[in-house]
Amino acid sequence: MEKNLENILNARNIKPTAMRTLVLQILLDQNSAISLPELEQKFYKADKSTIYRTLKTFLNHRLIHSIEDGTGSLRYAVCKESCNCEPEQLHVHFLCNNCNSTFCLLNSPIPIIELPKGFKQTSSNFVIKGVCLACSK
Ligand SMILES: [Zn+2]
Ligand SMILES: [Zn+2]
Repeated sequence: MEKNLENILNARNIKPTAMRTLVLQILLDQNSAISLPELEQKFYKADKSTIYRTLKTFLNHRLIHSIEDGTGSLRYAVCKESCNCEPEQLHVHFLCNNCNSTFCLLNSPIPIIELPKGFKQTSSNFVIKGVCLACSK
């Protein structure tokens, strides 16, 4: 498993460190996206700025993507191996109003919107809100 995490980091040109490997492990263990405060809570003792810098590095190397789900803090989730966060690769997210979890809907790409002449897309954010499977049972 350790080896596998290192491979994932190397594939994104991120030098594996103990901290990066640990943060990646935590991110992969989540079944929903996680915010910085939520991530910090998983650490008994770790410098908050180190955790933040680790996320920044992951973002810059497209290992993870950030999600504005309207809850106030950005949430983060690991990208698919082939993902470079290009507009045509972005997917819809789902925020559960009950458990406040945000899920990646990897099989639901964000539709490409035809923009007015001269407009250029740099990012997009598509969040559906409702009740997740666990909460609707
Ligand atoms: Zn839920
Ligand atoms: Zn996502």
